[in-house]
Amino acid sequence: MRVRFAPSPTGNLHIGGLRTALFNYLISRKQGGVFVLRIEDTDRKRYQPGAIESLIRSLNWSGIKYDEGPGIGGPYGSYVQSERLNLYRNAVDQLLESKNAYRDYSKPGEPVKTLEGPDQDLHKPHVVRLKMPENDTHFKDTVYGDISIPMQRPAGLGFTNDPVLLKSDGFPTYHLANVVDDSHMHISHVLRGEEWLSSMPTHLALYKALEMTPPKFAHLPLLINSDGSKLSKRSGDVSVEDYIAKNWEPEALINYTALMGWNALRTGDQNRPSEFMTMKDLIQRFDLKDVPQRRAAMFGGKLQFLNKQHLSTKIEEGDKGVLERFRAMLDIHLFVDGFQFDDEYLRDVLMLIKDRIGNLDEAANMGDYFFVDPIYTSDDAKLAYECTSSDKIDLVLTSVWNTLRNEHDWQADTLNGHLKQQQKTLKLKTNEFMMPLRWAITGKKMGPSVGSTMGLLGKETTLHRLIQHLN
Ligand code: GLU
Repeated sequence: MRVRFAPSPTGNLHIGGLRTALFNYLISRKQGGVFVLRIEDTDRKRYQPGAIESLIRSLNWSGIKYDEGPGIGGPYGSYVQSERLNLYRNAVDQLLESKNAYRDYSKPGEPVKTLEGPDQDLHKPHVVRLKMPENDTHFKDTVYGDISIPMQRPAGLGFTNDPVLLKSDGFPTYHLANVVDDSHMHISHVLRGEEWLSSMPTHLALYKALEMTPPKFAHLPLLINSDGSKLSKRSGDVSVEDYIAKNWEPEALINYTALMGWNALRTGDQNRPSEFMTMKDLIQRFDLKDVPQRRAAMFGGKLQFLNKQHLSTKIEEGDKGVLERFRAMLDIHLFVDGFQFDDEYLRDVLMLIKDRIGNLDEAANMGDYFFVDPIYTSDDAKLAYECTSSDKIDLVLTSVWNTLRNEHDWQADTLNGHLKQQQKTLKLKTNEFMMPLRWAITGKKMGPSVGSTMGLLGKETTLHRLIQHLN
């Protein structure tokens, strides 16, 4: 099996494109095939500088690895269409020769003007068109089943619907380059967006005229906004670059993207059906027969849910990339130099707060008191004080300070034990006891267990913060 992802460098990679790339990648990995990246840049008007780099960066970030393509090479390179123009010109010559194509000298909107014999002037601006067969097109699509597309009648006498193969600027159109390349690169299966279904008559006619065997086709249902309209910014972020910038985990975005337009839960281990999947799980479970014909809507809530789980897993595994990103955020969000803190400390902080964050972006603010002195806002203080009276607060802070200052075994378990004991001794409810204590050492009304927090903050910092609030 050889599959390809063939984006046009007209902008950043969108979620729809990411899904096409992903499904191609998954199926190639599952079947031990080859995954090709090909850049379709023959539309010079829509070309955007930097788009190729951005596409490759997005794929790399997502963990979608291609086996042949720009930067890697391979037996059928170049993998950038603008560097393969000879191939397309040869195909055009072949088609002109076999009378499957003709030169059209008309201006846009005019009836076709073919100049024969001596009148033919190859230097005059013209396009080359494919002579379309007069019959309807029938074919089998892996997702949509048997498809028939009726022949399109031209608008009037002298006009034509024959598709352009070679434009007047000498560049091939998408149709020609796409078909020539899929054939030349021995692509066995084409998986692409539903929007290309309507190009099938042209593509199949081209394969036939060039005497080439077409690959198998699977068109993937469109991604849409929740109101059914074409996917746009309205649903939230649509380009992978946006997700990178907002610190989503690539594993989560991939997991989320895979679930759009794939009935994952019908396959795989029926005893443990879960929407949480790593790339490895996806490869194992993905199957084209579980891609429905229904269009899939984006639903951002699911991304949050998956992100939390993937982030948690990575923190537990001590993922170096997460630690580095977290370190960089300390700088941005808290203005502290992240390099003061070693990996172990950063990981311990994340382990403590991971259940309270959905995205790594929230970590610096959620756990700010592990890096800088708390900012004691009056709102949080009010809440802490509402739970109890101010003389009780004094009592809590003083007695805890007195107990802990003699403790040498500064471990979460030991500290949690002390706190429990103190609370009992003072005969206070958990809220009455813990809220003021938490507020004093973190400036917040919520967070991980107070003993664990103290354990990680260390003795000096903890006692210093307690004493500040004693009258
Ligand atoms: N260059 C086309 C695109 O941008 C590729 C379509 C196809 O996969 O055939 O979507």
